[in-house]
Amino acid sequence: MTQSALRRFGVERKKNDGLTDHRLRPIDEWSRQARLLWKTDKGRIPAMPALTGAGNHPISTVMGKLSILFYPDPILRKTAEPVEQVDDELRRLLGQMLETMRAAPGVGLAAPQIGLSRRAFVMDPAREGEPPAPRCLINPEILELGEITRIHEEGCLSLPGIFAEVERPASIFMRYVDPSGELREERFEGHAATVAQHELDHLNGVLFVDHLSRLKRDFLIRKFRKARREEDAV
Ligand SMILES: [Zn+2]
Repeated sequence: MTQSALRRFGVERKKNDGLTDHRLRPIDEWSRQARLLWKTDKGRIPAMPALTGAGNHPISTVMGKLSILFYPDPILRKTAEPVEQVDDELRRLLGQMLETMRAAPGVGLAAPQIGLSRRAFVMDPAREGEPPAPRCLINPEILELGEITRIHEEGCLSLPGIFAEVERPASIFMRYVDPSGELREERFEGHAATVAQHELDHLNGVLFVDHLSRLKRDFLIRKFRKARREEDAV
């Protein structure tokens, strides 16, 4: 997602005012258990620290920028493969992805967007003026989707220049592996929930425009292609 979209629409539009309502819809039995666990022991799940590597040493973020693939690169439409090993190489790459995302500037970047068809993404949903909150999610899964939705004007670093409002659940409960290799379960809400769902979509070959009507999607894709052609011609 792009930072400019957020700047232009700094105020979150809520479809309803129920964001504090944490009713959740279980997806399967495991998630029902997870929900019970969450309800009965909220403090059990620690807040994710800023990006840390093995032994909780901060990962260096002074690294080179990666190239971001644009639509219609076929990798963006592939279902990404699970990450099999969390090692220094992966941690280095995630650090580079964060650098690349910040430089873009964006609030999320998924591995397929840099040409790696693996299930991992980085995000930093902090708003302007808020302290940075970088996150790396490896093999993420959504365990529960909240019933309340929110509408947010989304953009994508792989579709620069086009934006559209997308409605998604305002709260999600996720399970993922963090950069130190630990399995975590965590609830994301509001903007963070939107960003996480947008990025997780990338791991399944889905782009934010796929959530729009065909008419709107085709219009935006045409607009994007035209802008790219004009850019190439300059
Ligand atoms: Zn995107």
